[in-house]
Amino acid sequence: MQAQLEQTIAGSISFSGIGLHSGAPVHLRLLPAPAGTGIVFRRTDLDNFEIQAIGRNVAKVSYATSLMRQGVLISTTEHLLSACIGTGIDNVIVELDNLELPILDGSALPYVEAFQSVGIKVQRRRREYLRILRKVEVRENDKFIGVYPGDGYSITYEINFPAPILRQDFTVDLAADAYGAEIAAARTFGFREDERMLRDMGLIRGASPENAIILSRNGVQNGNLRFPDEFVRHKVLDLIGDLALAGHRIFGRVVAERAGHAMHTALVSRLLADRSAWDLITLPQLEVTRRPARAARLSPVQV
Ligand SMILES: [Zn+2]
Repeated sequence: MQAQLEQTIAGSISFSGIGLHSGAPVHLRLLPAPAGTGIVFRRTDLDNFEIQAIGRNVAKVSYATSLMRQGVLISTTEHLLSACIGTGIDNVIVELDNLELPILDGSALPYVEAFQSVGIKVQRRRREYLRILRKVEVRENDKFIGVYPGDGYSITYEINFPAPILRQDFTVDLAADAYGAEIAAARTFGFREDERMLRDMGLIRGASPENAIILSRNGVQNGNLRFPDEFVRHKVLDLIGDLALAGHRIFGRVVAERAGHAMHTALVSRLLADRSAWDLITLPQLEVTRRPARAARLSPVQV
């Protein structure tokens, strides 16, 4: 069920780890925030400089999504933002003492588990949804992403890398609370053959078998998958995190094919720039209708 009111975490949460690309050690602290705050990053190593997680602060995007304001960078925001959207967290202050969020286990599961253990607090303000009124699409060669009017928030993703294991597609309806069970645990992945090139580019300095699925031509090199289609589920995870930069939870249907962070954030920019393609709405409280379906199902057993 979709919560209709804004939410925050009920207490503070701490993590420490290393950045996937920088390899830099970082401490992260998530703090409850008042209604209307949104998701705000705070660099405690730079006089508490703040950057809001919204589209106009998106910086260079290649292998991870970064935010930048006045030259200050916050890197690899997508997994935490994804966990927030997936679990219905609207307002949180994210303190960190370095430039990149920790990669943790490569998924959003540590965040989701922490939110569940500390609790989620419902706030007294109606959540505004960004309702899609007409389609917005971005196409680049064989890559595609589009958003369409829809009832709720659903995502369909298709990937098609040149390896049989990586032809997968997945659809999730986030309104049905599927995030925790179907998306959160899916880990990031990379190809062994790209490793040298990426390291030469100054990327994946923090990557290890503990925080990423490593693929070669022969398949997965480190352990078992958490889902047979974990790769495409992780793409969905990333997309949810990147679309959080629209600044409001989307009310519509998203379709992506062979996309990535650059395409995801290009869609956010195009969407936000086209004011006729969306409006902001609040949803009425869902009526609590106790339909007799359950009781009816039980009755044949009782008879
Ligand atoms: Zn990712």
